[in-house]
Amino acid sequence: MNTIEHIRATRDISREELEMLLATDDTALVDHLRLAAREVADGVYGKKIFMRGLIEISSHCKNDCLYCGLRRSNTTAVRYRLTDEQIMDCCATGYRLGFRTFVMQGGEDGWFDDRRMCRIVEDVRRLYPDCAITLSLGERSRESYQALFNAGANRYLLRHETASAEHYARLHPSEMSWQHRIDCLYALKEIGYQVGCGFMVGSPYQTVDTLYEDLQFIRRFEPQMVGIGPFIAASDTPFADRPNGKVATTLRLLAIIRLLQPRVLLPATTALGTLHPQGRELGIQYGANVVMPNLSPREHRKDYAIYDNKICTGEESAECRACTEQRLHRIGYETVVDRGDFRAEPTAE
Ligand code: SF4
Repeated sequence: MNTIEHIRATRDISREELEMLLATDDTALVDHLRLAAREVADGVYGKKIFMRGLIEISSHCKNDCLYCGLRRSNTTAVRYRLTDEQIMDCCATGYRLGFRTFVMQGGEDGWFDDRRMCRIVEDVRRLYPDCAITLSLGERSRESYQALFNAGANRYLLRHETASAEHYARLHPSEMSWQHRIDCLYALKEIGYQVGCGFMVGSPYQTVDTLYEDLQFIRRFEPQMVGIGPFIAASDTPFADRPNGKVATTLRLLAIIRLLQPRVLLPATTALGTLHPQGRELGIQYGANVVMPNLSPREHRKDYAIYDNKICTGEESAECRACTEQRLHRIGYETVVDRGDFRAEPTAE
């Protein structure tokens, strides 16, 4: 059995196999990886790609992650918060455009405390009972996660960033704890959320060993979603001069994750589209099955600047929706009006 069929059959990968697949110049082998990943994704989700409407609710953040343009020390970052009304307008536009998942994402901003955030989630839940509500608001207390779940949220995205505590400590200030991040992920899962973890590809100090740990963490944790995208340097941060992550490495990792976790929801990220004009289409061709067009108000999009040169900051939501549709159509895929839930493995009777 060759390497790719071995990974596919065992849903596991050795460190040596990973190193070889990330380094290889053998285009036939990379094609094999891509086609195997796509075959697995098609087998579970077909040619249908799920859309998530992304609403960036706040560019304020109390944290100081070294790689992020929204870190609190970045005095050049433009800070904004959406009002409740703006958030509801984004959902109304999104619903009209066929979105059935709303992703509310923001920095760790105390303004959106439990009282305010639960009220927003309850309102969205009441008006759009057929939609999934995904939150991506960073680390909060277990009680907070529970309150938001009770209010009607279904899913939570919290990138683990790296499965190596040592690596985590080089990407974050000392007051942030890798263990706390991992505890948050397990708490979310226990509460009943569909949970997404993930990491940047090519982040400073990342090695084959840390990537191997990431893949083994994903195998153990069994998230419903995995968000990975290339690291892109953000100006006015300690990593401003670091090289960006590689598109090719990100694509290979997407394909490997698809083989390890056949049912996982895997976005072709905006970061991929930022580094390559067809990055998101390539992501789909390497096994991704989710896209996340932006529903945020156009006047604030450029201010959610987690990294430099982010794409799609000048378009209206309807333009993003139409552009996504056309891009996927050109490669033989279609978007669907669907919540796009995780499809669990059928259990034997
Ligand atoms: S990565 Fe998230 S938590 Fe860290 S500074 Fe940026 S917005 Fe804040």
